[in-house]
Amino acid sequence: MKYDYLVVGAGLFGAVFAHEMKAKNKSVLVIDKREHIAGNIYTEKRMDINVHKYGAHIFHTSDREVWDYICRFAEFNNYINSPVAVYGDELYNLPFNMNSFSKMWGIKTPSEAEAIIRKQADEEIERMKREKGTDTFTADNLEEQALSLAGRDIYEKLVKGYTEKQWGRDCKELPAFIIRRLPMRYTYDNNYFNDRYQGIPMGGYTGMVEKLLEGIPVLTGTDYFDFIKMEGSVPARPFESMGGDSFGRILFTGMIDEFFGYSLGTLEYRSLKFETQDLPEVDNYQGNAVVNYTERDIPYTRIIEHKHFEYGSGKGTIITREYPATWKHGDEPYYPMNDEKNNSLYGKYSQLAGEHPDILFGGRLGQYKYYNMDQVIRQALDMSRKED
Ligand SMILES: Cc1cc2nc3c(=O)[nH]c(=O)nc-3n(C[C@H](O)[C@H](O)[C@H](O)COP(=O)(O)OP(=O)(O)OC[C@H]3O[C@@H](n4cnc5c(N)ncnc54)[C@H](O)[C@@H]3O)c2cc1C
Repeated sequence: MKYDYLVVGAGLFGAVFAHEMKAKNKSVLVIDKREHIAGNIYTEKRMDINVHKYGAHIFHTSDREVWDYICRFAEFNNYINSPVAVYGDELYNLPFNMNSFSKMWGIKTPSEAEAIIRKQADEEIERMKREKGTDTFTADNLEEQALSLAGRDIYEKLVKGYTEKQWGRDCKELPAFIIRRLPMRYTYDNNYFNDRYQGIPMGGYTGMVEKLLEGIPVLTGTDYFDFIKMEGSVPARPFESMGGDSFGRILFTGMIDEFFGYSLGTLEYRSLKFETQDLPEVDNYQGNAVVNYTERDIPYTRIIEHKHFEYGSGKGTIITREYPATWKHGDEPYYPMNDEKNNSLYGKYSQLAGEHPDILFGGRLGQYKYYNMDQVIRQALDMSRKED
């Protein structure tokens, strides 16, 4: 059969793009190498709980068009992300706000909190200037940057261990630019995000993607490179005889470097390992969907208790410990490492992609960018509008 589009990847980007092209009366085939649709936002129902299989996903946006668009495919609940952080026996609200400052220093007012943070930060800046023998201060690494912004207490208890686990490196060895600013909120507001709209699709994300893909043929368990039997090389137009079909254009939402057979080098990622536990005898394990562990000695960065995303009150619970991991070939590439070296390599791949106008690259892997879900939808809508 001849299709107008082959969409590689049934994640959010692929699903929105496929939906839009179908709405333009184009014929589309979607393939995904995983055994399920929805990519990383896949949720799986167990014990009447929607488990976020590839990490906690909270939808939030200030883009009104994106919000109106996605609400056509799911009803969102009123979940507000309010994570807490555990440091030893101490428990703090995130983002850093008056609840955290009050707990840390026994104070009540924003001016008291600001004064302590300013004093601690200034002391650190003066100390570092003395040690470096300079009159002006420039942060040479992430530790110096964080100390100069937040002072010693917040850095030691809430930033240091968590960041070192996330990046697998000492804060002194991480570049300062990773933390341009540390959001301090001088109110008692625990809402982690500043966006206008927020929530979790009731019934899970998989149903939402199912709706996007309604009426579109989808082949799961189908790797593009097996499908075209041309590993590492770019197919010639008009993409004849791929799996016996032919396609006018391709949208590829997998790894752009893999698409080109790593011919210019390998892009780097951070990965994650998830350890999920069903606890049928426990109804409420931690009282919150997201609890961060900020000590370096605890190997995981957070524990997710999935039922709280949808205010579940049934028997039993399911928790997931999230461990940051170094990425190697074959691992799931979760976070692009958007440093200078990798961005420059991506730039070269992007140039190469420009030589193949009938192949589009989209999403977090195709465009090598950390995108939130709303940004993915925005990008996919914009791309689909450019197609005639
Ligand atoms: C741990 C974690 C937590 C996150 N939390 C949030 C959050 O709270 N809020 C938020 O807005 N965003 C969050 N995000 C970001 C969100 O996951 C992404 O924005 C979104 O899932 C990206 O969609 P995508 O379609 O670009 O990529 P993906 O979901 O990765 O989809 C790409 C698909 O392509 C398939 N594929 C790849 N290569 C091939 C191939 N060769 N052949 C066939 N198929 C292939 C893959 O199997 C995958 O299904 C989080 C991300 C992570 C990693």
